[in-house]
Amino acid sequence: MTTDPLVSIVLPVFNESEGIDNTLAVLSNYVRIRPERYELIFVDDGSQDDTVAKIQAAMAKNSAIRLVRFSRNFGHQLAITAGIRYTTGDAVVVMDADLQDPPSVIPAMLDQWQKGFSVVYGKRRHRSGETWFKKVTATTFYRLLAAMTKVDIPVDTGDFRLMDRQVVDILMTMNETDPYVRGMVSWVGFKQTAVLYDRQERTAGESKYPLRKMLNLAMNGLMSFSTAPLALASWLSGIALGISVLIVAISALLGDLALDTWILSSLFFLGSGGFLILGIIGTYIGRLFNQSRQRPLYIVEATYGFAQAKATPQY
Ligand code: UDP
Ligand code: MG
Repeated sequence: MTTDPLVSIVLPVFNESEGIDNTLAVLSNYVRIRPERYELIFVDDGSQDDTVAKIQAAMAKNSAIRLVRFSRNFGHQLAITAGIRYTTGDAVVVMDADLQDPPSVIPAMLDQWQKGFSVVYGKRRHRSGETWFKKVTATTFYRLLAAMTKVDIPVDTGDFRLMDRQVVDILMTMNETDPYVRGMVSWVGFKQTAVLYDRQERTAGESKYPLRKMLNLAMNGLMSFSTAPLALASWLSGIALGISVLIVAISALLGDLALDTWILSSLFFLGSGGFLILGIIGTYIGRLFNQSRQRPLYIVEATYGFAQAKATPQY
């Protein structure tokens, strides 16, 4: 039990001009009525609209707001990674800046934290205002990943969560080039629990997760937390063997009837299997290559609103 805790809220933002004023107003109001102390850390992930100017305008009125500005768009997961490195709170909450994750869930998270849970993640009961495509792909993906990994990654859970300082300090030591933050938080362990909530519609603007970014995130999740795709090669070779035995059996039964068709199709089959496996192996090697270059994960161009000592981590 921590008395008078400081809670850091990390909010990645990318071209959120349309909704950011509302988010700033809702959060400022939330912070004002709550008994805990707060710091609001926005990470601007290379916005090209006036998101930064709007946050800076709000900073003039609210000393709890801080801003970390990337030199370009590095992606949601890296914005979270950077944001938590600038926190000083006893507990850290990560949430979207579009209010799809409502701040009204945070008190329930704090309750669980005070009861001794180190991670309290928001689990989506309903998702409003999202396309059926997004819901179906997300639901399928979370279950596929759960089946393919030994790490206990909860299903239907995004990055909206509260973490204890201890967990955040450990996360900060994990320098993953293609981070899948929610998986990393599960991997860390400690006592974790869920708070159920209804995911709201975006208050303004469009999703900043086009299909390309969604696929990227899904691939990062699978490849960071499972090597099962590599084992597909053995499965496919087993199946291919089965099929070739079948072809021999059938051709023996039917005489030589249409055997060349069979040979042709099995050639295609084996060829496609080979390409598939090469693709999977290539993707893992690509990740190894990315990690081995040891480039900074992201570049911070400027920070605003931090005490000098807190502004140090640049990447
Ligand atoms: N975001 C970001 N960088 C990106 C894409 C998104 O920082 O490249 C931010 C975005 O501004 C939002 C959060 O990450 O605060 C989640 O993105 P979004 O709401 O578009 O995702 P969705 O809720 O549609 O999955
Ligand atoms: Mg959103």
